[in-house]
Amino acid sequence: LATGGAERPAGAATVPYLDPSLPVAARVDDLLSRMSLDDKLGQMTQVERRYITPAEAGTYRIGALLSAGGSAPKPNTPEAWADMHDAYQQGALTSPLRIPALYGVDAVHGHNNVAGATIFPHDIGLGAARDPALVRDIGAATAEEMAGTGADWDFAPCVCVARDDRWGRTYESFGEVPELPSAMTSLIDGLQGAEPGGPASVLATAKHFVADGGTEGGRDRGDARIPEEELRAVHLPPFREAVRRGVASVMVSYSSWNGVKMHANRDLVTGVLKGELGFRGFVVSDYQGIGRIDGKAGLTRAEVAQAINAGIDMAMVGAKWKDFIAGLRAEVADGTVPMARIDDANRRILTQKIRFGLFERPMADRGYLGTVGSAAHRALARRAVARSQVLLKNDGVLPLRRGAKLFVAGRSADDIGMQSGGWTITWQGSPGKITPGTTILEGIKQVAGTATKVAYDRDGDGIDGSYDAAVAVVGEKPYAEYHGDRPGGLALDDEDVKTVDRLRASGVPVAVVLVSGRPLDVAPHLAGWNALVASWLPGTEGAGVADVLFGDARPSGRLPVTWPRESGQEPINRGDGKDPLFPFGHGLTYGGAAGGSGRAGSG
Ligand code: BGC
Repeated sequence: LATGGAERPAGAATVPYLDPSLPVAARVDDLLSRMSLDDKLGQMTQVERRYITPAEAGTYRIGALLSAGGSAPKPNTPEAWADMHDAYQQGALTSPLRIPALYGVDAVHGHNNVAGATIFPHDIGLGAARDPALVRDIGAATAEEMAGTGADWDFAPCVCVARDDRWGRTYESFGEVPELPSAMTSLIDGLQGAEPGGPASVLATAKHFVADGGTEGGRDRGDARIPEEELRAVHLPPFREAVRRGVASVMVSYSSWNGVKMHANRDLVTGVLKGELGFRGFVVSDYQGIGRIDGKAGLTRAEVAQAINAGIDMAMVGAKWKDFIAGLRAEVADGTVPMARIDDANRRILTQKIRFGLFERPMADRGYLGTVGSAAHRALARRAVARSQVLLKNDGVLPLRRGAKLFVAGRSADDIGMQSGGWTITWQGSPGKITPGTTILEGIKQVAGTATKVAYDRDGDGIDGSYDAAVAVVGEKPYAEYHGDRPGGLALDDEDVKTVDRLRASGVPVAVVLVSGRPLDVAPHLAGWNALVASWLPGTEGAGVADVLFGDARPSGRLPVTWPRESGQEPINRGDGKDPLFPFGHGLTYGGAAGGSGRAGSG
């Protein structure tokens, strides 16, 4: 087979599954026919890289690795990521059938675990920008930065519909109505490329299936106690759209629906997602999600059987990965998990590996290393930042005037970590100089030019009445997942209130720039503020905020979520008629409204 053929280079495919000229399905059939049970169990396993060596990846025929919560190599450089990836891939390729492994990362706002990468605004800001083509371009840029480091599978987009702002993952949502996340599944087109398998195309993941944003009290990993009509009308549509775009994978949610853990929900995972929606890619669990089905610590055989029989094709696991393989083997041996289910899972996984060219190009595509944090990507991010700013109030202090005397303050003003939020370098993110970028203060200085005098004090000390305007950049500290849940409400931090009050006491007009993952309780303070800009979590390119403050870019963002008067109104995103402070879709511009304020969605 495939031994000569003028068109084939020497050493090319000797078996059909390695022959790129054959149709994907034929290659998958051939490969499956050669696989042992060991091969198949391994392919269904994705292991956090801290718990496995490259050699083990080969011995156990592991299907995929991941860096959970950042899990970066030391030093955290793009080159070290590429080396780390390639070492695992070399290990995986020592397996008898030389099946390459996928490497998954949470590149949820750019390739955000990698120091020096371009960090784009978090989804909530992109929901405010309402520009699917921009989001597609961000996906393509992210895929390029990933390709250089070898990561070929992105756990994005999060297509959750955030219904309660107290939820710690609200910022990972494009908005409170299904139309916004549905439109922003354009990210999938950017990540996967027009031609999956072409250069710099990575697998995308629609997550978290389903109703992760609809849990009681906005509790992360909680229970969505909602009728099926609401689940279908609100939370399912973005997945339908992701499937239509050919998304390679779907991740199951930690949350439950009416008391049933999604990881065990056969009706929804197999019946609705694979059946009704016709999803042909593969379903991955959330990290250690299978071990949480019974609510107790540890991964049991019963949980493994429930999850795989529910339709999960690949288990994302940590330290317990050998338990998963052994458990699944035992469940297959006693017939609880049918062999047909194992074959179906493998067919789905291998189809995507072949579709994305893993067999032809298993190693990091180092030619793309130079795109990590490139000027072109940063320019794209800056544009996205400018587009995402929502002007909520303005009595005329904005736009700032060049040549004026300005005072900038606030703990988010000169801090890359604060303006980037969670999922930046580390899982939770953190304040500080965690990666290169332009802070909002630096952006203001750049955009202001030399004729403008810009003074800065973090706490607002030292301001006097001689300034033309003050800018307070305040908001939330970084957080991710349940760490960001705020069941007690969304009050502004005391420190922030004090900073703004110090500025106000000087008599200088104050524009507040709110750097946060969601609406906060600004109503008690708003009367004393001259302007309010919802900046969301803009990422590394703070100059985009300055572009809007100075009017170089016209404010055009519109609220992707309803802004409550006070967080006691939550879950305010769940319905109309709640008398919000600012309605969904609200957004001013200089000299008029940026757009309508209706609930019309993604326009
Ligand atoms: C999160 C997912 C993420 C996964 C891998 C989980 O804790 O819920 O969104 O993709 O970790 O890092």
